[in-house]
Amino acid sequence: MQKFIPSTVFYTPDALNARGQKALLSYPGALHEEIKQHNRLPQLTDNHFQIKSNVLVLGRLKTLVCRESGRSSDFIAPSLANGCMGACAYCYVDRNKPVNPITLFTNTEEIMLAVDKHVQQQPWPKVPNQTHPQYYTYDIGCNSDVSVDAAISDSVQTAVEFFREHPKAFATFATKFVNPELLAYDPQEKTRIRFSLLPHKVSKLVDVRTDTLEKRVGAINDFYQAGYGVHVNFSPVIVYDGWLDDYRELFEQLNEAVHPKVKEQMSCEVIFLTHNQWQHEANLSINPKAEELIWVPEVQETKRSQFGGINVRYQHQLKSQWISAFRKLQQEVIPWCPIRYIF
Ligand code: SF4
Repeated sequence: MQKFIPSTVFYTPDALNARGQKALLSYPGALHEEIKQHNRLPQLTDNHFQIKSNVLVLGRLKTLVCRESGRSSDFIAPSLANGCMGACAYCYVDRNKPVNPITLFTNTEEIMLAVDKHVQQQPWPKVPNQTHPQYYTYDIGCNSDVSVDAAISDSVQTAVEFFREHPKAFATFATKFVNPELLAYDPQEKTRIRFSLLPHKVSKLVDVRTDTLEKRVGAINDFYQAGYGVHVNFSPVIVYDGWLDDYRELFEQLNEAVHPKVKEQMSCEVIFLTHNQWQHEANLSINPKAEELIWVPEVQETKRSQFGGINVRYQHQLKSQWISAFRKLQQEVIPWCPIRYIF
């Protein structure tokens, strides 16, 4: 995984608990600057993409709310962090945010306490569902990439240990990075990692600064061996001439690489591409080739998002046909990897 070495670290005074101080001291060469609020940064001269790799913010999360999910997990835990050093052309985490550096929330214990309070209010035993037959599942990586966060502090390790010991709660997160440090966390099957996979040639173009597809596929067995549940996340699915041939190749790659024991527990989730007008305009100057693939108005329709931005997604009828084609291919090549949901 590419090393994250920020040149500036902003921090709020209330973020400087032992974890925050340690994170601050890990970047002695960076400019350290105190700020009042983690979401109000001073004017920065770097562009959006440079800021993602050059700036770290240490803050304390005050709104400790678990939200409903129902897809990748039952609930979304309060964020351990927000932002990511990757620069994927379609990233929804960045949408409508002029700057979005990694903001690490150092009050992990308070965040886990909020999860504990929340899960204790749920009926028990849980009614089994597609997220887990027994435990309540919490996505801990909806606003960041947890593998990257784990390289900055022990917050992810603390979270994995919390879920390991918890009698009712289970953690899950999707990632596009391979951080071998996570292999030592001993999750004892109480954390599920979902490796996000796109066909090789598309991934090279749109997954910027992430680990390669080959690395992610190559890590699956190791993470299972280390005690993680391992699923795959086919998202976003990008449609272009020959997309199904490329998915066939990807499925065959998985078929080859995944150990039979790992196959027995693996499922997948599939989300077709959505994109965003603001993001499209920002990408045009730095990754125009990616835009040719993901901004295709002839087959897309627009939708105003709940945050006011203009999102685009594939036209409904076309998408229904493509979903059927995807399902058929999955049944043919990787029938051992059932689809948990697809849309
Ligand atoms: S790795 Fe995930 S969170 Fe990071 S930029 Fe890519 S899509 Fe966004």
